[in-house]
Amino acid sequence: MRKIGAAVAAALAVATAACAPEPARQPAPVADAAAATTTAAATTTTPPTAVPGPGGTTVPVFQPPYPYGTAQAAVPAAADGLLPVVRRIETDQPYVFITIDDGAVRHPAALELMRSANVRPSLFLNTKHVEDGGPDYFKAMRDQAGARVHAHTATHPNLQGKSYEFQRREICGNADYLEGVLGPRATLFRPPFGNYDATTRRAAADCGFRALVMWTAAVNDGVVQFQAGGKLNRGDIVLMHFRQTFVEDFVAFLQRCKQDGLIPVPLEDHLSPSRP
Ligand SMILES: [Zn+2]
Repeated sequence: MRKIGAAVAAALAVATAACAPEPARQPAPVADAAAATTTAAATTTTPPTAVPGPGGTTVPVFQPPYPYGTAQAAVPAAADGLLPVVRRIETDQPYVFITIDDGAVRHPAALELMRSANVRPSLFLNTKHVEDGGPDYFKAMRDQAGARVHAHTATHPNLQGKSYEFQRREICGNADYLEGVLGPRATLFRPPFGNYDATTRRAAADCGFRALVMWTAAVNDGVVQFQAGGKLNRGDIVLMHFRQTFVEDFVAFLQRCKQDGLIPVPLEDHLSPSRP
């Protein structure tokens, strides 16, 4: 009887701990104390769904739905020496993909945001922007946030209509440079402005890429813009940029994912060279 009474008292103490100014007078039996400790430990190890972010923001947090770095789907095969063009990922899972382009502005909060949200973006970088200020900013994202680095040309020209030699120099040159400073070698290529032609696909295939990656949604000035419909859909590839508005853009993307019941997962796992 007494033990039950103490357990009830202990439970009441836990339930009212948040507003009770003093702990319950009656000490809990040892066994109950151990149980309470276990409960407390379990509570503190439950992953948060959101954490405080820079500038008073709240950053949504995502748990990996599978072990990242494992192949989930194979990249489409190349045909006639032309690199396959990927606009979205075919998946029956609630997955979306975040890609960040250029590298022109180095917002100091970007790495911490990626880490707190537990999101691994794909970075499509230009040689000129990595050279300005060096590779360390992006290296930290690769090493500490699991970001992967991909190619976006050396100088960000419009490739459409340009010669094979010009395009190959821009694309392969960028891949070679990135491999040297931010390896491993990029496997994905995105053309500047989303502009490409058959020559682009041939040159990029010859440079050893797996896919030319476009997008189906974009984030600008803290607003997620959809190509069709009013929400993100599974398989969407989202485009944003390294800009002054990085925090607003990234948080808007994360919030949109929560709102639409989607999880951002690594694009590379779904464009794997091998079948899962
Ligand atoms: Zn770009």
